Amino acid sequence: MRILVLIVIGLLLYMIINNLFRKKDRLESPEELGKMVRCKYCELHILEQESVESADDYFCSQAHLELEAKQKK
Ligand SMILES: [Zn+2]
Repeated sequence: MRILVLIVIGLLLYMIINNLFRKKDRLESPEELGKMVRCKYCELHILEQESVESADDYFCSQAHLELEAKQKK
């Protein structure tokens, strides 16, 4: 009898976790979040909306934009 209760609890937990993961996947799908771009300085992938844009290049932060600009000189 105790095993049956454990199985039921296990199944419920599995369903809850599965549901949570599915919701998370949907929220984090690239189509909903937007375009991914690459920082020209460190090559980190970031969202276009969170990136710093300079001419045709993207940067993960203002600091990397400035570092890349310094390297050019
Ligand atoms: Zn960077």
